[in-house]
Amino acid sequence: MNSLHEHALRLSCQHRLLESELVKVLGEIESLKLHRTLGFSSVFSYTVSALGLSEPVAYTLITVARKARELGALSKAISTQKLSVNRASRIVAALTRENANELIAFAATHTQRETDQEVARLSDRRTERFENLRVPAEVLELLKKAQGLMASRKKRNLKFDETLKLVLEEFLNRHEPVRKAERARKRAEKTKAKTTDKISAENSVCTKPDATPKAKTARIPVTALTRHIVNIRDQARCTFVDYAGHRCTNDRWLHAHHRIPVSRGGSNEPANLVTLCSFHQDLVHQLSLPIEGQVNWIREPGRAYSH
Ligand SMILES: [Zn+2]
Repeated sequence: MNSLHEHALRLSCQHRLLESELVKVLGEIESLKLHRTLGFSSVFSYTVSALGLSEPVAYTLITVARKARELGALSKAISTQKLSVNRASRIVAALTRENANELIAFAATHTQRETDQEVARLSDRRTERFENLRVPAEVLELLKKAQGLMASRKKRNLKFDETLKLVLEEFLNRHEPVRKAERARKRAEKTKAKTTDKISAENSVCTKPDATPKAKTARIPVTALTRHIVNIRDQARCTFVDYAGHRCTNDRWLHAHHRIPVSRGGSNEPANLVTLCSFHQDLVHQLSLPIEGQVNWIREPGRAYSH
């Protein structure tokens, strides 16, 4: 009984050793294109036909062999038998140069189920990136634009699925008949309740403090109509132009900045408003410079700015 167990142990050990050797040899055969000289178009058909291994086994060995050639960490883990070939085959899809050590260590110390879950988690995270989506460039462009707008509205960066959910919600709110009716009803109630100008929630108004507290309380909100005019004129993009004449490309975290501060009698007229991203609005405030005309004043270094 005991000797039978020992025999099984020995065989299993040999099996793992042979498997790891086979991965290594198949990798070498493929890199030398030896299968071609033997008359096989692929290393896969060579493994199945010449070596007599089953298709799933051939697939597993070749997939692992290819990844092991690419990543030294995997090759080492297999040759030292830290990782079985089968377990290695479960992680190759998610394995990258960056996560190799971490993922291999994870797979070596966790169950197959836990490993599969970890791979699924990593793959999810990878497909979260817009760039990994298989969609036409113009759709990608639209998604990115929507992501930027949603980020400004929510005041944080949104993941792909969050963005898509919000976009779809908004589409349904706008076009689904019941929601549409509900929206109209609420709007009617609101109009009844207050007749003041609606403030667009999309961009925040400049509330940075060159304004005294007194001026703050006297501040009149920028109307939605004015915002529309400013957004069309500035193409809803930061208008800051740097020394080299490049305009800031930021289309999120935007503010309607008052050229002449409200505290100094600046109005809410479109001519007095300019679109700036948070970063450039901060910069403008920090420098406390008067902005006249276009926001390309900073193009002239060394100019003495005074009130
Ligand atoms: Zn900017």
